[in-house]
Amino acid sequence: MASRAIQPVLLGCALLCAAALVCGGVFGPAQAQTAPIAHFPVASEARLAGDASQTRFILDLDQAVQFRAFTLGDPYRVVVDIPQIDFRLPTGIGTTGRGLIKAFRYGLVMPGGSRIVFDLTGPARIASSTMLEAANGQPPRLVLEFEAVDQATFNQGSGEAKPELRPAIADAKAGATPAAAAPAAQLADPRPVIVIDPGHGGLDNGTQSNGETEKTLVLNFGLALRERLEKSGKYRVVMTRSDDTFIPLNDRVKIARAQSAALFVSIHADALPRREGDAQGATIYTLSDKASDVEAERLAETENRADAIGGVNLTEEPTEVADILIDLAQRETRTFSNRFARLLMNEMKIAARMHKHPLKSAGFRVLKAPDVPSVLVELGYVSNKGDLEHLVSDNWRAKTAASMAQAIDTFLAKRLATASPDK
Ligand code: ZN
Repeated sequence: MASRAIQPVLLGCALLCAAALVCGGVFGPAQAQTAPIAHFPVASEARLAGDASQTRFILDLDQAVQFRAFTLGDPYRVVVDIPQIDFRLPTGIGTTGRGLIKAFRYGLVMPGGSRIVFDLTGPARIASSTMLEAANGQPPRLVLEFEAVDQATFNQGSGEAKPELRPAIADAKAGATPAAAAPAAQLADPRPVIVIDPGHGGLDNGTQSNGETEKTLVLNFGLALRERLEKSGKYRVVMTRSDDTFIPLNDRVKIARAQSAALFVSIHADALPRREGDAQGATIYTLSDKASDVEAERLAETENRADAIGGVNLTEEPTEVADILIDLAQRETRTFSNRFARLLMNEMKIAARMHKHPLKSAGFRVLKAPDVPSVLVELGYVSNKGDLEHLVSDNWRAKTAASMAQAIDTFLAKRLATASPDK
């Protein structure tokens, strides 16, 4: 237990600074581009050793770094938080595991902060965790020892090591940052806020095909849509992410709510496993307790897995609003969400190829803001050749973003008119 982390206080400071940066990054101008190029510690190699009772993970670095490691259950994972790292690991590493480790992934969770998430084959504890300084011709190394334990020991251990939420989440909860940042911006700028939510990011790649990852495709689309909307000058556009950073699902919803957004549009790109055949075209999803069909249910499950992939402790996230309030507000919000979904379909079908059943619903966690009309658009299937050609095309992107902007114009014009009947 004592070896769980070295100097957690120092790391805490580093993470808080990073949290301040991430909030500025989401709501302020993109200062990341203007900052001088930072040189982050480099990770050059990672290895697994051992068996199903004891497994060791070794990460080679070019300098020692602070870290914090903790376990999470349901599914069993180990999370290691470290300062921002330039990962130059061999491609494909982490996709196959060894011993207690099924697989692992790594990436940015906020400016200044990286994370490694291990999927475990069963309950395990971190028997030791050490940052070794360079010695005997060996580079500095992060060494973690995992040890299989029974369920009861795991429950005890993970209770004891109750991980703090990462600072960005903790701050949002305390109302210290994103929530507090909104009112000032709203006073200064009364235009309706559109929140664009490119799915996935950082260590969550989303779907993948032919070397293209969903997280990059949807970010590029989101940026194109932002450009299109900003050009009209009618809206204030807020991105849940504008770079390759992991954002938990709840934080995406919180951003929409804190901004009192007029509309929340989540952007994704689906994939169908080859054995399930081929599918093509864009689909627009709204929130529902009951999935409209089996495919919608499967998709919602896949998309809702993002937090587990990013190492977010799901049991630590409380329900935001009492269920009864959600119920009341959501009834109206859902009417607006469905109206927008239909408008969007009518515009998008002119510009883009649509799925044979283009309007669906399921229990997507990212659509759960009770007071913000929200839709999730699957732009197409990265597993389909024609769709993927569209998804990487600037021309298709511009055309499709323009059709979305048209739907947003119509929706908000109508909505504003409905909201003020005396006009
Ligand atoms: Zn997705």
